[in-house]
Amino acid sequence: MAESERPAVLYGIQPYMFEPESDPDDEETPAEETQLRMEQDVSEWCLCGKCEKMATEPENICCREIEQVTRRMKQLQVTPSCMVDHPGMDPVCFNVFSLQNAFNIYRADYGPLRLRGVQHRYRFLAYRSFVSWCWGFLGRKVRVVIPACVVLGIQREFPDAQGSYVGFRPPID
Ligand SMILES: [Zn+2]
Ligand SMILES: [Zn+2]
Repeated sequence: MAESERPAVLYGIQPYMFEPESDPDDEETPAEETQLRMEQDVSEWCLCGKCEKMATEPENICCREIEQVTRRMKQLQVTPSCMVDHPGMDPVCFNVFSLQNAFNIYRADYGPLRLRGVQHRYRFLAYRSFVSWCWGFLGRKVRVVIPACVVLGIQREFPDAQGSYVGFRPPID
């Protein structure tokens, strides 16, 4: 039988026909909380000392509560008190050349990044790189909750605020 005449069914499902993807939705914290953290003093739930009150309830979470994050902290000889102080934060999330590379990886997978403003783009790529580093996967969007201290650290590094001096930043592409 000629190759082209073989019934397609013989080939079955090809491996890797579908992109393997973790589903972080399963890992989200339950919506029901006895007391909203937004209504508490940050010191009631933050163990690292660097979290601040965030705009939405799920964002009010400390680096020390997230297993995927504490795992990286415990891999060091001396466990830092906050993930922001992990020496990997700089090369992975703050280094603009790493983020240029993260941009190319994003673009290869998903096409153009539809975000305005270079700082906004850097922040998005820094969040994605953090998730990739700690959770080990990258979706099109950031779909896990990043601890408040890390979000704040990335916002400080790539602020939107007009006029705040942020040093030299190369274009992202
Ligand atoms: Zn904290
Ligand atoms: Zn922290």
